[in-house]
Amino acid sequence: MATQQQYGKVDWAGEDRQNNSQYSRGDKFMTLEPGLNRIRILSEAYKYVFHKIKFQNDSQSKFGRNIRCSIKECPLCAQGEPQKIKYVFGVVNRKTKEFKYLDAAQAIHIAIKGIQKNMPGYENVYDYDLNIIVNPNGGSTNYYQTLQGEKSPMSADDIEMMDNVDVEFIEKFIEPVSPEDVSKSVDRIQSWLEKQAAKMAAEAAPAGQGQERQSAPQKPQAGRPRKAVQAAPSPPPQEDNDEPEQKTIDDSAFNFKLIKK
Ligand SMILES: [Zn+2]
Repeated sequence: MATQQQYGKVDWAGEDRQNNSQYSRGDKFMTLEPGLNRIRILSEAYKYVFHKIKFQNDSQSKFGRNIRCSIKECPLCAQGEPQKIKYVFGVVNRKTKEFKYLDAAQAIHIAIKGIQKNMPGYENVYDYDLNIIVNPNGGSTNYYQTLQGEKSPMSADDIEMMDNVDVEFIEKFIEPVSPEDVSKSVDRIQSWLEKQAAKMAAEAAPAGQGQERQSAPQKPQAGRPRKAVQAAPSPPPQEDNDEPEQKTIDDSAFNFKLIKK
């Protein structure tokens, strides 16, 4: 089946992508910052499946690249790569007072589940803010800490923002890609990394001239400013925060408890 062409704004620098829904994150998503992030949940959570792949010589990504799983006939599953889970839901970012989607690690989801289950009075996720603390040095188990915040009724703005939750958008976002798209993503990152390596090798050896003349003991090159280190070219689109790999837990039975008022 041919992919339906879409119309609209295109990215000059970007590659053509048949299925770009998973990359067109724009500013719809909240970036969790190191330290405290206060949110209020505004929607149910939607689960999706991906792989975390560590590529060779990938100095830009500390923990590996997220590549969507096709679930059916997935080439990465076939290679024995474990499936990872994330959740998407609508939130208010309390710091900016904006509506955003949160692309949340399973650890965050499980922590919220724990709060609902174990904290008396916190059964309804819409009744309180959540504090997500990001510790970049926390490793796979302590990277995220999610704690219940103060209980307070939703404000009129919060309730209004619930209307921003675009279920169609989320459903498209979480849709598994095709097996071909999985392979394409792997190839795209691989070829980008190869280009990077070639570029770095070329920059490291502009030799040609100079090398021989430097037979005299090297003097510190005072006065001559070194060519400014070139800004690293932007890495291929990364789906989300570069977060450490986390243990995947089977939580298929769980979703946020919704208590409609
Ligand atoms: Zn897979």
